[in-house]
Amino acid sequence: MAAVERNLPTESKLLHAPPLEEVASLLNEQMKSNYSWVDVQVVTCPDLTKEPFTLACKGLGGQPRLVELGGVPYLMPWCRREKLYDIRDVAKRLEVEPAFIVGPSMGPWTFRDTGAEMAVCAEVKNGKLNNYSRITWLDKGKIVVERVPDNEPHCGLIGNWFCSQGLTDKVLQIRCKKRTGSADFISCIRQILQDRYKGKSVGLGGVFVLKEGKAQLHVAPQYSKTPLHSDQDLIDWLKFFDMSPPLVAVGTLVSEDLGLDLRLSHFHSFSDHGEGGHFHIDTEPEKAEYLAYFSVAQSIHRIDRPAETHQAGRI
Ligand SMILES: [Zn+2]
Repeated sequence: MAAVERNLPTESKLLHAPPLEEVASLLNEQMKSNYSWVDVQVVTCPDLTKEPFTLACKGLGGQPRLVELGGVPYLMPWCRREKLYDIRDVAKRLEVEPAFIVGPSMGPWTFRDTGAEMAVCAEVKNGKLNNYSRITWLDKGKIVVERVPDNEPHCGLIGNWFCSQGLTDKVLQIRCKKRTGSADFISCIRQILQDRYKGKSVGLGGVFVLKEGKAQLHVAPQYSKTPLHSDQDLIDWLKFFDMSPPLVAVGTLVSEDLGLDLRLSHFHSFSDHGEGGHFHIDTEPEKAEYLAYFSVAQSIHRIDRPAETHQAGRI
């Protein structure tokens, strides 16, 4: 049995949670600088257990919050294998029942002993894990996407998660087509929030699907045998791919750091056609088409924050 990190020091802060209508109208107006067609509305969340999303719970409602677990300093310069977390322990810390968690992590080496991009998607109910998480990893260079079974409760090193009770509630529905600006989908939204709510931190989380057009993603290969000190070291180690739609991605974005040493946005993808990983940007902007369901988080919970930190590797 691998050693699991059970010491989970937690800091919590309230986020600025503007009304959904206010955020919808802001994004509707301002995303037009990056896309030729934009439509943002407040809607009742559709059933996210259905295609194309196939998540563990139906909605994003009930005590919506962001979670940042660990961090890139546990990957750089060396992978800290003792930073293996049990999703059930983290859920218990959050005191959300049931806890529906979506967002990126590293894959658990207890399941596949290699670098892997994990899209955590799990319900923890009465301490029991209902695991719909997927990992993407490289098997002798070939991309593999796998569902993580219920009896594998671990994830590694990092987590940028949106947590709620999985209830059907009002959410933001963001649709846009044809990218005309240089910002990627998430950076575009994050920058608009940062500019509008200066000095306050607004956090969103949930799921999007890239419906049309290819995208650049990366997948971590086997653990690096040389230390990773810089963004360039990390880029040289990771494997980058152009992948095909539809790609579903889960994760979070937050407009300000709040002194918590946060990763400001992070999304991991999966698909039914054997492609997935860390989502960067669509690579066929004239074809790009997105559909997202996001909720506004009320608080952020910073768990097992690295004592020694750096800014490298937050690509
Ligand atoms: Zn990632």
